[in-house]
Amino acid sequence: MGATAIYPGTFDPITNGHIDILIRSLKAFDHIIVGIGPNPTKTTLFSIEERILMIKECLNSIPNVSVEVFDCLLVDFAKRKNAKVIIRGLRAISDFEYEFQMALMNRKLDSDIETVFLMPSEEYSYLTSSIIKVVGSFGGDVSSLIPKLAHEMIKNKFNKINKE
Ligand code: ADP
Repeated sequence: MGATAIYPGTFDPITNGHIDILIRSLKAFDHIIVGIGPNPTKTTLFSIEERILMIKECLNSIPNVSVEVFDCLLVDFAKRKNAKVIIRGLRAISDFEYEFQMALMNRKLDSDIETVFLMPSEEYSYLTSSIIKVVGSFGGDVSSLIPKLAHEMIKNKFNKINKE
């Protein structure tokens, strides 16, 4: 069996920046598990089921990637999946401090697991799920920045919320 890596995150929603990192990761790993993890500091716009649906649609065209949900420490999930590597994306210096903290905490929890950072294409270096939600909530065009189904789902979600 080849090397598996975990790409964890909230993916609320998945963006082309996430996909860019996934595709780059496949140059180094045989199988990537997109792990939708718990994040007690964030409330999400999309349910777990909705996020899985959006991710699965993208995976139809990207082989060797699967999606799973975990509700435990990331290092424990990685161990359970026989993955020795956690992948994270680094957009700008602003990501660095948080990512540095998380990587060292995860190393403290399990020194067998390494965190690998990849940088996206410059066109996605400013892209966050949060900015997509802000722009999307006011009807701004984000169609070139997120996958097709995610775009439809965000439009429907805000149409529904704005009607309430
Ligand atoms: P989290 O809630 O853990 O920050 P996210 O879903 O926001 O999870 O992101 C998951 C990972 O993908 C993080 O490492 C994040 O830095 C990275 N990421 C998000 N957007 C981009 C992007 N546009 N380019 C590169 N990496 C990104």
